[in-house]
Amino acid sequence: MKSVVVKFVDNGFVYLVGAGPGRADLITVRGAEVLKKADCIIYDKLANPALLRFARADAEIIHVPKRTGGASVTQEEINKLLLEKASGGRTVVRLKGGDPCIFGRVAEELAVLIEAGIGFEIVPGITAGIAVAAYAGIILTDREYSSQVVFVTGQEKQGKQKSNIDWNLLAKFSGTIVFYMGVGSLSFIAKRLIDNGMAADTPAAVVADATFPTQRVVKAALDDISEKSKQQGIEPPAIIIIGAAADSNAQLNWFMKKPLFGKNIVVTRDAVGNVDFAAKIISRCGNPLKFPTIKIKPLTETNEFLRTLATITEYDWIIFTSGNGVTIFFETLQGLGKDARVFGSAKIAAIGNGTAVKLSQFGIKADFVPSIFTGKELGKQLIAYTNLRSKKVLLLRSKIASNELVELLDKGGAEVQDVAVYTAVEQKSECTWLIEEISKGRIDWLTFASPSSVNGFFKQIRSDLVDAGKVKVASIGPVTSERLKTLGVRIDVTAEDHTLDGLLDAIEQTYKSI
Ligand code: SAH
Repeated sequence: MKSVVVKFVDNGFVYLVGAGPGRADLITVRGAEVLKKADCIIYDKLANPALLRFARADAEIIHVPKRTGGASVTQEEINKLLLEKASGGRTVVRLKGGDPCIFGRVAEELAVLIEAGIGFEIVPGITAGIAVAAYAGIILTDREYSSQVVFVTGQEKQGKQKSNIDWNLLAKFSGTIVFYMGVGSLSFIAKRLIDNGMAADTPAAVVADATFPTQRVVKAALDDISEKSKQQGIEPPAIIIIGAAADSNAQLNWFMKKPLFGKNIVVTRDAVGNVDFAAKIISRCGNPLKFPTIKIKPLTETNEFLRTLATITEYDWIIFTSGNGVTIFFETLQGLGKDARVFGSAKIAAIGNGTAVKLSQFGIKADFVPSIFTGKELGKQLIAYTNLRSKKVLLLRSKIASNELVELLDKGGAEVQDVAVYTAVEQKSECTWLIEEISKGRIDWLTFASPSSVNGFFKQIRSDLVDAGKVKVASIGPVTSERLKTLGVRIDVTAEDHTLDGLLDAIEQTYKSI
């Protein structure tokens, strides 16, 4: 009888995932999903490292930038790595820029996987050629002028005797030609096309660093595009688009017209808060630079907090005045094996929309949110909204919050208990780079979302540096502005809506009114 050999039973699985063209939120949902379960992630130079936020805390992360001049050796190393990491039943994500199957050398990686009997899945990504066009407002196909698109590599395998590129056909091609990896050989590409009969005045465009706040677009006729790109210092990665499509209407360039496009905005919250804030800036096409000035330290292990928690059902109102307070409170509850039912019939108030959204993430709909998001307004408006006389009110907030809210609630007749769930301690960050960037006029905005960030920041950076430079200062609200004023810092905008989005709205507004 023939025996059945089960080969490679403990082999793992490899997902070849397209990371998308740059911006971290342009990965597919499937791509993000498989990143979350990977034991090991092997990622390329063009895959945005910000995507690693999806990785499990214990995932092994390996960066494999291709070496110039040694690409084939490196590819062999990558192939070996894939086999090694996928052994022992592990799940590996091979994360590649754009789409894995477009100029991604995926065939070589697949061949070794197949030979070793390792299972795989290809998760497509948005390839640079498509994304570049969308982000530069270039329509690759339009029935008026182009019914076909061709993707071409501007860099053929080194040492190849015969070109795979049919220059003769491309020169006569009546659609849109999209060149990848062509910056270094742009003058050669243009010459080959013109020598083969393409009109010298055919429209061409080069788009570099697409989807990032550093995106640049150069447009010129084919015989001039190389010179113009050189003059403007264009560097890879860039895509070259040739054909009528490249002569696009400037009004379509939506991305580079966004008010925050290309603006360098320093975020000064704690490290976790900065990630949140940076994502908001990126989604508005700005460039966030993280400079943590504080650390959030939970105080939920104190006896005071634990005693409060044990008697929390006795309160009529529970008030949260920050997203941090909400997150730390609920994380502590979870750690104790409890959930939102501890509140019993108490009503819940939030200082603003941001805090209310955080509460909703834990299944709580705030009963009250004031129309202006400050402690003072919360106190005033809550008293107007409900009779607090002899009512027990619990504040769950930062240790260093102002006393104004407590005083107002006291006046309204409430019995107030002010319990700290966290505090902010100042944190030192590496600051030479920031001092240099501010001095050279390369920072557009410094943003402050709390008085403690103001303190932490100006302990490290002299305020006269800020006053002298072109950098502008944005504050989230009156309490933060007060702190800035005390330090003698010029404030350019204070948000009307005291949330992170309100802060960015205020910054955007300054560009709209120009
Ligand atoms: N697999 C990738 C392409 C890899 S080849 C994809 O599908 O996009 C690398 C080339 O992609 C670069 O030389 C450049 O031509 C292009 N590219 C990648 N990211 C880019 C970006 N953000 N902006 C412009 N071109 C980019």
